[in-house]
Amino acid sequence: MPDSQLPPSPSTSNHTRPLPQTGDLRRSFTVLRRQADRLQRILEISQILTSTYDLDELLQIILAAAIELTKTEAASILLLNEGGTELRFAATTGSNRDKLMALRVPVENSLAGTILRSGEPMVFDDVRQDPRHFDGVDKQIAFESRSMLGVPLLMRERPVGVLEALNKLDTSPFGEEDGQVLMTLAAQAAVAIENARLITALQKAYEQLNRIDRIKSDFIAIASHELRTPLGLILGYASMLREDLKNTDTSQQLDVVMNSALRLRDLIDDMVNVQHIEEGKAKLVLTEFVLQEVVQRVVEAVRELYTTKEQELLVSLPAQPLSLKADREKIALVVNNLLTNAIKFTDPRGRIMVAAELKNGEVQVHVADTGIGIPAREVEHIFDRFYQVEPHLTRQHGGLGLGLAIAKGMIEMHGGKIWVESVEGLGSRFSFSVPVAGPSHK
Ligand code: ADP
Repeated sequence: MPDSQLPPSPSTSNHTRPLPQTGDLRRSFTVLRRQADRLQRILEISQILTSTYDLDELLQIILAAAIELTKTEAASILLLNEGGTELRFAATTGSNRDKLMALRVPVENSLAGTILRSGEPMVFDDVRQDPRHFDGVDKQIAFESRSMLGVPLLMRERPVGVLEALNKLDTSPFGEEDGQVLMTLAAQAAVAIENARLITALQKAYEQLNRIDRIKSDFIAIASHELRTPLGLILGYASMLREDLKNTDTSQQLDVVMNSALRLRDLIDDMVNVQHIEEGKAKLVLTEFVLQEVVQRVVEAVRELYTTKEQELLVSLPAQPLSLKADREKIALVVNNLLTNAIKFTDPRGRIMVAAELKNGEVQVHVADTGIGIPAREVEHIFDRFYQVEPHLTRQHGGLGLGLAIAKGMIEMHGGKIWVESVEGLGSRFSFSVPVAGPSHK
C-alpha cells in the first residue's frame, strides 16, 4: 500500500446517533481509559522534561513511551544535518544504538526525508514495497522494517527531524490516535533538543567568559608585577636624587617625577586590590584603633589636593574616641577613596564635610560634598568595577573607576555597608558603617 496521510476519525452526527448498547458502552469506556492512560504517560514525560536536562535520557524516555503507546517494536529520532542533506540518528531503542548513530540517511529518496519534507505525519503499511525505503539501516543492524508511522520534528514550525515508530505489534493498522501521540512526543523531543542546544550554548559562553576572566586576572597579576619593579627603582632613585639636590630647580622637577611615579603606583595598587577582593584573596588584618586618628591622617594626606582647589574641608568628629576592631589600613583606604572623590568631583571653592558617629554598635562615617552629584539612574552602578558616570571620551576627571568598587569590597569584608545619597548638580553624601566589634564570623 502506498504511503498515506492518517485516516480521519469516523464522523458522528449529533442528531442521528443511536443510544449506545452495553457492549458499545464497554468499548467507549475502554477507549476513554486508553486515552486517559496515554495522556497520563505524556504528562509524566512533560514533568520529566522539566526536571532533567540530560538529553540522551530524555530522548530514551520519549522513545520508550512512543513504542509503548503506539504498540510498536522500535522507535528512532533522526535529526537533519546543518546542510539539510542528511538525517542522522539522535536516539533509538534497541541494542544497535552505536551502529545506528554512525549511519546517515539521505533526505533525498528516503521515507524519513519524505516525512521531513511533507511536514505531516505519514503511515507506511509496508515500507518494503516502497522504492523510497532506505534499506541501508536494516542491513546494518539486521532488522526488518515492515510498517512505519513517522512524524516530523518541528522547531519553531520548521521541520528539523523525524520521529519514527516501526512495526506495529498487533494486527491493527496505525490510526489517528497513534499519529496524535507521536506528534505530541515529537513536540516534547523538540523541546528537549532545543533546551539541550541552548544549555550547551550557554555552557560554552560561560566557559568562554571564565577563560576571558582568567586571562584578565593573569594579565593584571603579571602586568602589575612587571610594572612595580621598575617603578620601585624610579621612586628609589628619584627620592635619593631629590635629597642630594635639595632646594634646587632640579629638585622641583624630581618632585614631578616622584608624584607621577606615586600616582602610577596607586593605580597598580588599585588594580591588584580589586583583583584580590574579587578572587577572595584579600585578608583582613584586625587591630583595635581609634577611628578619629585614621580620619585625621587621611585628611592630612589629601590636604594638598583640596587646598590647591581652594576647597573648604570640615571635619566633624565626636570628642569621645571611637574605638573599633577592624583593618586599619583598609578603613584608611576607604576614607581616602571617598575623600579624594569628593575633592575631585567638587568644583574649586566647594565644600567637603567628613563626619563620624556611633550608631547601634556600628561606626558610621559620612563624606559629603557640594559637587556635581550623581544622576539617579547611575547611582546603582557606581560601585561596579570600572564604572564611571562621565563618558570615557569626554572625561574631565582622571581615574580608573575602581575606587568605589574597592571601598565596597573592603567594607563588606568587615561585615559593613556602603551607600550614597546624591542630587545631581547639588552634591553627594557617601556613607559607610562597620561593626565596632569587628566582623562577626557566621
Ligand atoms: P574614579 O573616581 O576613579 O572614576 P570611583 O570608583 O571612585 O572611580 O568612582 C566611580 C564613579 O562614581 C566616578 O567616575 C564618578 O562618576 C562617580 N563618583 C564617585 N564619587 C563621586 C562624587 N563624590 N561626586 C560625584 N560623582 C562621584
